[in-house]
Amino acid sequence: MDTKAIKALNDAHIINTYGERNLALVRGEGMSVWDAEGREYLDCFAGIAVASLGHCHPEVTDAICKQAQTLVHVSNLYYIEPQVQLAELLSRHSFADRWFFANCGATANEAAMKLARRYWTQKGAPKPEIITAEQSFHGRTIATITATGQPKYREGFEPLLPGLRYVPYNDLEALRQAITPQTGAVMLEPVQGEGGIRIPSTDYMKGVRELCDEQNVLLILDEVQTGMGRTGRLFAHEHFDIQPDIITLAKALANGVPIGALGCTEEVAQGFAPGTHATTFGGNPLSSAAALATLSVMTRPGFLEHVRTVGDHFRDGLYRLTEKHGAIKEIRSLGLMIGVEMTQPVKPVVDAMITAGIICGPAGPNVLRFVPPLIIETHHVDHVLNTLDRILGELQW
Ligand SMILES: *Cc1c(COP(=O)(O)O)cnc(C)c1O
Repeated sequence: MDTKAIKALNDAHIINTYGERNLALVRGEGMSVWDAEGREYLDCFAGIAVASLGHCHPEVTDAICKQAQTLVHVSNLYYIEPQVQLAELLSRHSFADRWFFANCGATANEAAMKLARRYWTQKGAPKPEIITAEQSFHGRTIATITATGQPKYREGFEPLLPGLRYVPYNDLEALRQAITPQTGAVMLEPVQGEGGIRIPSTDYMKGVRELCDEQNVLLILDEVQTGMGRTGRLFAHEHFDIQPDIITLAKALANGVPIGALGCTEEVAQGFAPGTHATTFGGNPLSSAAALATLSVMTRPGFLEHVRTVGDHFRDGLYRLTEKHGAIKEIRSLGLMIGVEMTQPVKPVVDAMITAGIICGPAGPNVLRFVPPLIIETHHVDHVLNTLDRILGELQW
């Protein structure tokens, strides 16, 4: 099918939640994707920070194929070999002792909110309130749009989940004042993704951890986007030298096969007992095998160092563009999670980049977002920088 035919079928049969788009991508390999007409693009968006090892990474593809020929799915009513291997490997590389596997970011965050509530109920002292940050993004289910600190995601879906409150991000005093005896958990992204690539100060993140300890509140870090090497550490909280009580993962965890995960300490894991939470698909053999292969590559020596080196190169290049183009307001980046805040909506820039053969995207209206596969090389980055330089020079704003 060509793009026109795909679009026609889409418009006839798909519920219109995504609006008009110009691309139908049909194939991928490494840093490249191809549209239905065979045109190649350099992918600097990775399906929103998902294909972190690049498209169709041979080791992940091999693991998927082997698992697909062995056993695609069984229920969590039975033990699942690749799932327990994945949990063991995740534990070895994180603070977490125990894992629950979900289907995506939203269902991992749902599990985290349920666990936090049940943990305190179990202790005989229910504390149902959960505090999240303004500008945050935690998913699209009713509970997670309620947790999401952006009214536009909640409008029209009321009544929402009771017990959620919002505080300004990166403002320790505001959090201190918001915590009450009813507060059971604080849920934050260690770098806000959809909210515009916002990086908190180390003092803030350390302060949040101390405050949570002081007030007996669980700290949930939503690392759905920041996790799995995206920021140059396997998990972004490592930059701040803190550990959460609960972490959630999804996007890049299986390099594109749908999966979500919740990790927590042994103590917090006691909040769930048999029968209290479950899922049909979460952590099934296929997605677990894909995640196991993905994590095996990401934890090899040199992998994260590469992310930091190329990330620094990208950031330095963007700083140079800032001096040249008044349209750039601020560069915010950590590893290969990169935001370029502009003085105006970035849609024309995104469109011009795609026309030039480079896929990037927005993070809110005024922020251009680059979340490329982590295998990106400096020569790709130089090409992106040169193209952006030219486009910003030509733009009639
Ligand atoms: C993408 C994202 C989610 C939602 O994940 P889904 O897989 O779309 O449900 C949640 N939290 C953060 C920080 C995200 O970036």
